Amino acid sequence: MPELGVGVKSMKCPHCQQVETKVIESRDVANGESIRRRRECLGCQHRYTTYERLERPTITVIKKDGTRQLYNRTKLVAGLQKACEKTTISGSDFEDLVVRVEKGIYDCGDVEISSTKIGSIVMNALADTNQIAYVRFASVYRNFTDLESFERELSRIKARLIAPEGVKQK
Ligand SMILES: [Zn+2]
Repeated sequence: MPELGVGVKSMKCPHCQQVETKVIESRDVANGESIRRRRECLGCQHRYTTYERLERPTITVIKKDGTRQLYNRTKLVAGLQKACEKTTISGSDFEDLVVRVEKGIYDCGDVEISSTKIGSIVMNALADTNQIAYVRFASVYRNFTDLESFERELSRIKARLIAPEGVKQK
């Protein structure tokens, strides 16, 4: 096993500007999407933390009306939060959900993605996670205009979910 710190010397100490550092701890955060490193300066022993993040391409979202806007993670998280309100999804489950959805978006490999496509990625992730959140998101997102299309969607998830929780079936 290579010794920690070998080959990771090009980070400047914020204290004395010396570039020789030793990595004293290295761990994955956010499901391996980034790496956190604790470093110690070999010059002054000052300890500091660096984060290495996967560089993501800039993605443009094409909305239903044809307008384009930059993909906004905060907006996605807000939408998911709304869908997951008062459900059993919280804390690390919620983090996992966000990571899964975002991975789905980037895995498309395109610099442009339609909002419809993002919607279906979210719906797939929610369908595997929580029935209530799924229905909530679907009703807003799909903008059901008639009972029939809503019922079609419901039977789709009923078939898909093995353990429904908290939703009363009539
Ligand atoms: Zn230093």
